[in-house]
Amino acid sequence: MRTCIRGGTVVTAAGRFQADVLIKDELILAVGAELDSAEADIIDAEGKHVLPGGIDVHTHLDMPLGEISSSDDFYTGHVAAAFGGTTTHLDFANQSRGETLEHAIKTWHARAGGKACIDYGFHVTVTDVNDATLEEIGRLPGQGVTTIKLLMAYKGRVMVDDAALFLAMERARDAGVLTMVHCENGDVIDVLIRQSLAAGRTETRWHPLTRPPQLEGEATGRAIAIAEILGAPLYVVHVTCEPALRHIRDARRRGVDVTAETCVQYLFFTSEDVARGDFEGAKWVCSPPFRAVPDQRALWEGLRHGVLGIVSTDHCPFFFATQKVLGRDDFSLIPNGCPGIEDRLVVLHHAGVNGGRLDLERFVALTATNPARVFGLEGRKGAIAPGHDADIAIWDMNRERTISAATSHSRVDYNLYEGMTVRGIPEKVLLRGRLIVDGDRFLGTPGYGRFLPRALTRPLGIL
Ligand code: MN
Ligand code: MN
Repeated sequence: MRTCIRGGTVVTAAGRFQADVLIKDELILAVGAELDSAEADIIDAEGKHVLPGGIDVHTHLDMPLGEISSSDDFYTGHVAAAFGGTTTHLDFANQSRGETLEHAIKTWHARAGGKACIDYGFHVTVTDVNDATLEEIGRLPGQGVTTIKLLMAYKGRVMVDDAALFLAMERARDAGVLTMVHCENGDVIDVLIRQSLAAGRTETRWHPLTRPPQLEGEATGRAIAIAEILGAPLYVVHVTCEPALRHIRDARRRGVDVTAETCVQYLFFTSEDVARGDFEGAKWVCSPPFRAVPDQRALWEGLRHGVLGIVSTDHCPFFFATQKVLGRDDFSLIPNGCPGIEDRLVVLHHAGVNGGRLDLERFVALTATNPARVFGLEGRKGAIAPGHDADIAIWDMNRERTISAATSHSRVDYNLYEGMTVRGIPEKVLLRGRLIVDGDRFLGTPGYGRFLPRALTRPLGIL
């Protein structure tokens, strides 16, 4: 089967040009002027922009948290992603204490299988570092999993200590596996939360106040020091603040192989939103927490200059009415996480590109090309070039949308961006050559989304 996307402006991380995109079955066959489209279905892209499908490398679909789970599963989350122009995501398979990494991967395969409408891969969150786990890290690439994550926060639950972090990172280095780290000082945060609650400070506004930016900066520096000693590559997830950015920038200058992402919501909201009254602020409870305006400025600066190479979401939605309320009387019991998989590209495009902070090429780099490069999908995803999967979003840069939970596809009862009008909408989305979104219509099929065994990660260099 052949499809020709005709007459659009193709945008890559390196530039933009008028070209047709010829697709044969699942792959891009050719990109160029006036390609022979005989026997091909034609998609008219005149006046439109043709971008690679987005890659969101940080999501939590159907993630158990105590007695509840994040509210999007691998069907609803994928439909939402597709409407937002995202065609690939990487989700975290979380190891439970006492379980093997293999078990975690198997569990997540079962969650995704049969439901998936876009392509996906897994990282493994390592929470129980012991000899057996370390041995298993060496075998992950054989299962198509080339990234692990460790958390320096959430003491008593999933936090690991520095010894465990060191040992896991060492083993990952030897296996060619990239270590991702959630950097916050969990020990001190634990004390601050206890003190806050003991003093009767239970409202949502205490969430950011008990997780100050200095403790994200400190932990980021500590993770970098361990990576530097080991000569291991490091990926810092969800960077939110200037102190963390400073450590990453300095480390990159001395040649440490550290790459970092921010999540799109940190560019839009601050701790003031978490402090909204009548428990409204719970919608903005996630960790690390929302910061201040100078931090947002530093994040935009980091995105422009390559200190931050990727924008993801940490998509982890919980219903406000039935799940966030678990922490009505105690902010520490609010399930941490925000929705965003559907909104990432349109809000970043609107504030970044329309707002004059990023050019369209950089937008593509941050949301598709760099994610593919860093996470072992290069040559396959994240670019519009012959031989790549035909994962393509056709954008109408003049079309507007007012974001609302009521018209969003994510299975959750609120939207952080409620009422915000964005200009620039992906109106047709193709996954491996197949049209899965056409305007307001979803044409995807559960089960068409495919697990992506990923190649080894590679030295990241300047992004
Ligand atoms: Mn995290
Ligand atoms: Mn996360």
